Amino acid sequence: MFKKILIANRGEIACRVAATARRLGVQTVAVYSDADAQAKHVAACDEAIHIGGPAPKDSYLQWARIIEAARATGAQAIHPGYGFLSENAEFARACAAAGLVFIGPPAAAIEAMGLKAESKRLMEQAGVPLVPGYHGADQDPALLQREADRIGYPVLIKASAGGGGKGMRVVERSADFAAALASCQREASNSFGEDAVLIEKYVQRPRHIEIQVFADRHGHCVYLHERDCSVQRRHQKVLEEAPAPGLTPALRQQMGQAAVAAAQAVGYVGAGTVEFIVEQVAYDQPEAMIYFFMEMNTRLQVEHPVTEAITGVDLVEWQLRVAAGEALPLQQHELRLQGHAIEARICAENPEQQFLPATGTLLRYRKPPHCAFERGPLRFDDGVREGDAISPFYDSMVAKLIVHADTREQALARLDAALAQTHIVGLTTNVQFLRQVLRSPSFEQARLDTALIPREAALLFGLDPLGLPLAVAAATVQTLLDERAQEGADPFSRRDGWRSHPSSETVRHIAFEYQGQPVTASLTYQRDGGLHLSVEPGAYAGPLRFHALPAGSAWALELGFAGLSSRASVYVQGEQMHVFSPRGAAQIVEIDRLAHAGDSAPEGGRLSAPMPGKVLSFCVSAGEVVKKGQPLALMEAMKMEHTIAAPSDGTVAELLYAPGDQVAEGAELLRFTPA
Ligand code: ADP
Ligand code: ADP
Ligand code: MG
Repeated sequence: MFKKILIANRGEIACRVAATARRLGVQTVAVYSDADAQAKHVAACDEAIHIGGPAPKDSYLQWARIIEAARATGAQAIHPGYGFLSENAEFARACAAAGLVFIGPPAAAIEAMGLKAESKRLMEQAGVPLVPGYHGADQDPALLQREADRIGYPVLIKASAGGGGKGMRVVERSADFAAALASCQREASNSFGEDAVLIEKYVQRPRHIEIQVFADRHGHCVYLHERDCSVQRRHQKVLEEAPAPGLTPALRQQMGQAAVAAAQAVGYVGAGTVEFIVEQVAYDQPEAMIYFFMEMNTRLQVEHPVTEAITGVDLVEWQLRVAAGEALPLQQHELRLQGHAIEARICAENPEQQFLPATGTLLRYRKPPHCAFERGPLRFDDGVREGDAISPFYDSMVAKLIVHADTREQALARLDAALAQTHIVGLTTNVQFLRQVLRSPSFEQARLDTALIPREAALLFGLDPLGLPLAVAAATVQTLLDERAQEGADPFSRRDGWRSHPSSETVRHIAFEYQGQPVTASLTYQRDGGLHLSVEPGAYAGPLRFHALPAGSAWALELGFAGLSSRASVYVQGEQMHVFSPRGAAQIVEIDRLAHAGDSAPEGGRLSAPMPGKVLSFCVSAGEVVKKGQPLALMEAMKMEHTIAAPSDGTVAELLYAPGDQVAEGAELLRFTPA
C-alpha cells in the first residue's frame, strides 16, 4: 500500500478520498486554488499545496503543477477524484512518466472510452448491445440527415466528446434536424473543443441503469450490481438508488456480464461505470426491459456511495489496493447485495427557475444528526462547512445525502426525514424539491424513467408544503423569543410577558410577507399567561403554544396553532425568517423586524413600501446622516403602522413621496446611500 497520495480534486470527493486514506493509514496531500485556501478538503488532508487561481484551468486542471506538488511532497500516487483530470489520458501518461501511480484506469482505456462514437464502435465489436444509431466518422451534414431519417424520429444528437448532460439535442422531425445539428455542433466545439456528433434513436420512457465494475491487474473483473439514475433534470442525475427497482436477478446478471465484457474489451483496470439506457414496455413488466450501452465513465462516480451501502465495499479502498498492485479483495460470487440505498444530490440551484445554479454563503448549514463519511443508515458526504461560499467557479453540488435501509420504502422515509433536517440558509437549494420528488406517486411507486420530473411537475413546483398558519406561527414565536433574548430574559419564560410593550397594549400586530402577500399576525397576551394568535388573510385564529426542544435536537421548537402542531427551526437573516419543519420549509419576511432588532441586518434594506398603503410621515429629511436601525418613515397599511428603518449607517439622499401619499407595494419611498 502507498504511504502517501496526492488528491487532485476539491470539495466532497477530495474529503471522501481523504477519509478512506486516513482509515488505511495513508498520508494525504491536498491541492487548492486561491478560492479554496480555507476549504474543508485542505483541512481533511495532512499537507496542502497551493496550485493557482480560482478558475479550474488555472489550478485543478494545471496538471504539470499537480505533478510537481506530488514530487515535492513525496506522494507516490495521485487520486483524481471525478471531473477535472479524472478522464484525461494525457494526465494519466504524465503521471507515469513522472514515476507516479495514477489511481485510475490505463491511459489507453480512458482514450478508448473517451469519445462516445469510438467507444460505441468498440462495443459493437465486443457484442455489447447498442442503441440503434449512427456513430461513424463521416460527419457530412447530408449524410447525418439521411442517417437520422433512416433511424426514425425522435432522434438524439449527441456530441461525441460530450459529458455532464451537455451537447445533446432531441429532434422530433426531419425538418428540424439541420438546425438542431448546427446548434449541437456549436455547443460541442465551445464546451469540448470538438464538434463530432453521433445520432441515436431517442428512447421513449427510458431508464438510466448503470453497472459499477471493478478490475485489477491480475485479470479479474467483477460487477458490483447496478444503480438506477433515472431521475434527472437537464440530463443530469438528481436521485440515484441501488438496486434498481424491478430489475430481475437474471437481467441484473446479464447486464453485469455485459458491463464486464465492455470493461475487458478495453483492458480496463480500477473502478468504472458502464451506463445503459433501458427501454421499458410498461412499468410493471421488468421482463420486457431492453438495455443498450450508452457510455462508460472511466472513474469513480458521484453516486458510488449507494453501491458501497448495498455491497459493504469501500470503493476508494479498492481503488487504492488495485492501484498498489493488489488483487481484487472479493470475487463475483462473494459480492452481496443487501437492502436498499438512495442518494440525493443537494445542489445550490433554484428548481423554480429551471434549476438555475445559485451562489452564496452557507450562513446556516445544519445537517441531520449522526452522520459522517461512514457506512451506516445515514451518510452525508460534503466538502463544505458553515460559513463557506458556494462560488461560481465550481459545480453547484453542496452535499450528498445517502441512506441505507432494509427496504426501499424505509429508505425513502429515512431520506425524507434526513432532508427535512438539512437546514441551509444563505443560498437557494433543491432540498425542498427533492422531498417533493420523493413524495411523488411516480417515485414512491418506482415508476421510474428520465421524464419523471416533467411528468410530475404539478406536484413538484410552486407548492407550499409548510402552509401559511404554521409559517406565521413559527415566525411570530421566533420574533417573541428574539425580543425576550434581547431583554436578557429567559426566552421561554411566560411569566415576564412582553416587557418591551406597554402593559396597556394587549393586542400586538406583526406584519409579515409570505409568498409575496402581506400577512398580519395579531397577538393577544392573555391573563392566564397564554397567547392567542389570529392571522389575516385566512382567518386562522386560536391559542399559540410553543416550547423549546433540548439543545442538540434536530428541531428547536414544538409549535401548536390553529389545530396544527409541528416541530420547527427558525433562522433569522435580517428581515428574512427561514422556517424549517418536517412538513416543509419556507421563507417569511418580517416587515418591520429591522426597526426592532439591531442585529444581522441584510445588505441594502427595504426602503420600499412593503405593501400598498399610505405614507404617514417621514422621520428624516433629505441629506440627513442616519444610524443603522434609525426610523426613516412611517407607513400605514392594512390598518397597521409600519416603521421603515435604516438598513445601515448612511445618508438619506431624497424623499420620493409626501405625507398622505398613497403608494403601491414595492414603491421606493426614499433614496438611501449606505455609508
Ligand atoms: P456522474 O456521471 O458521476 O453523475 P457527471 O458526468 O455529471 O457525473 O460529472 C462528474 C462530476 O464531476 C460532476 O458532478 C461535477 O461534480 C464534477 N465536475 C466536472 N467538471 C467539473 C469542473 N469543471 N469543475 C468542478 N467539478 C466538475
Ligand atoms: P453524458 O456524458 O452527458 O452523461 P450520456 O450519453 O450518458 O451523456 O446521456 C446522459 C443522459 O441523457 C442519460 O442518462 C439519459 O437520460 C439521456 N439519454 C442519453 N441517450 C439517450 C437516448 N438514446 N434516448 C433517450 N435518452 C437518452
Ligand atoms: Mg453519462
